[in-house]
Amino acid sequence: MNYKELADLIFPDAKEISYYEEKYPKRNLPEGAQVLRVAPSPTGNVHIGTIFQAIIDKKVALQSKGVFYVRIEDTDQKREIEGGITQIIESLKDFDIEVDEGMINETEFIGEYGPYRQSLRKDIYQSYAKYMIEQGKAYPCFATPEELEEMREKQRAAKVRTGYYGVWAKYRNLSLEEMAEKIKSGEPYIVRFKSPGREDRKIKHKDIIKGNVEFPENDIDEVIIKSDGLPTYHFAHLVDDHLMGTTIVVRGDEWLSSVPLHLQLFQEAGFKAPKYAHTPSLLKNDNGNKRKISKRKDPEAAVSFYKEIGMPSLALKEYLLNIANSTFENWRRQNKDADINDFDFQLNKMSVSGALFDMVKLNDVSKIVISRYTAQEVYDESMKWAKIYDDELVEMLSDKEYSLKVLGIERGNVKPRKDIAKWSDVKENIIYMYNDKFMNTKQEYPYQVISNKEDVEKVLKLYIEKYYDENDDKQTWFDKIKELAGELGYAKEVKEFKSNPEMYKAHVGDVSTVLRVALTGRTNTPDMFEIMNVLGKENIIKRFEKAINE
Ligand code: GLU
Repeated sequence: MNYKELADLIFPDAKEISYYEEKYPKRNLPEGAQVLRVAPSPTGNVHIGTIFQAIIDKKVALQSKGVFYVRIEDTDQKREIEGGITQIIESLKDFDIEVDEGMINETEFIGEYGPYRQSLRKDIYQSYAKYMIEQGKAYPCFATPEELEEMREKQRAAKVRTGYYGVWAKYRNLSLEEMAEKIKSGEPYIVRFKSPGREDRKIKHKDIIKGNVEFPENDIDEVIIKSDGLPTYHFAHLVDDHLMGTTIVVRGDEWLSSVPLHLQLFQEAGFKAPKYAHTPSLLKNDNGNKRKISKRKDPEAAVSFYKEIGMPSLALKEYLLNIANSTFENWRRQNKDADINDFDFQLNKMSVSGALFDMVKLNDVSKIVISRYTAQEVYDESMKWAKIYDDELVEMLSDKEYSLKVLGIERGNVKPRKDIAKWSDVKENIIYMYNDKFMNTKQEYPYQVISNKEDVEKVLKLYIEKYYDENDDKQTWFDKIKELAGELGYAKEVKEFKSNPEMYKAHVGDVSTVLRVALTGRTNTPDMFEIMNVLGKENIIKRFEKAINE
């Protein structure tokens, strides 16, 4: 019995790997072009970490004129959920991350290196596993779960590392005849890699993000083909990234410690290993402690959360780029309207340790992103969101012409309004502009310096009788509020008030506040001149009356 015969016995139908090597030839790409992939498992609720990596992959692929593809890693079929692949594809679309190759639905794909779904590649893995057995680099292992547990118990008692390695690798040194015999008699088995490593030797690895790292060599005989005939992550990584021509593997740093095994697998198989870039985990601040954002504990870990609160994916994308390269923030400040794709991303400038994901910061980024939207865009997006989540907002927005005016307040100018971080903020931010909402509810009217009923009434009455004219331009409008202040004995200028505080009860700003509060029920609103224009004289009068009478 030789290795070839053993391999034939285990995988009688598997093709020679030369078949696949020819079917998936080396990519013909320009010098320097990089091939990257994102490789999520379809376990539902796409994690922001997946999008984080996809953004990075796509950036590097674009900048190097290379390829970005998506591969679905579904070899752990217990964790899979129905529609999981579609969720991933839709999320990438939402974030405007176009894939060059990959699954386009649960079963179909585009690209020459597919299928890009591991469960559809069983035959391929088996060919490569067969090849490894033929080379004497993999072998069938007959250990039962009980035997493995017993091994670990002994290891613990002897205070040595647990795992299937060295002298503990009980089935590694069976003769080929013994192996064949067990197979023929129907004993269950899996296939293990035959590691040539020694724990007392070191390997050096230069990670694109983490820099130089040193590890003991791998000496574990990892499982490569499981009892269901599917590969483990490690073996699928070897086969897929080899055949698909990945040049840089960007993946979470929980995989960093697997690098010794992976380099060894590539080495033993005789394939060129990709470069690795291990991304820091996204962390959150949890009562002063930083910890990994987890899908189990944190709703904000799933991209669906942002859809629900109505945060544009562009905002999240900008923020994630910001986390990926700290130079992004500065670049954005200097290139306010530039396309995000113009930012020159540097993989080797990523932070090495955990990256803090801060919701407050994200909100601020989102406010800026939305401030660049036109009224029409805000309208369309809010409406899309509201149709799923908020009937009342749909009803408000159904008066489209008026709503566009409301949403257009302080928009499209040099300093656009920045009060909306997500579509779920819109209602609260504009509701006072809608008469049937404002006029039919009792308002609080939080007057400030000028607050007694008589003084307020005087301001409102005099303003509407003598000073308000809907044809005024902004300067005239403001000058008239000063006049009004003067006529009522308040300081016309804040400066004047500050130098002679004993002479005045209040100043023009306080008079403005009275007008604002009476009109909107709030002390803080966007530009009052624009608000008045949108409301129109008739409404202003009605609102003043309500303020006086309430
Ligand atoms: N399926 C693996 C994961 O989701 C992929 C890791 C990799 O990119 O290689 O963690």
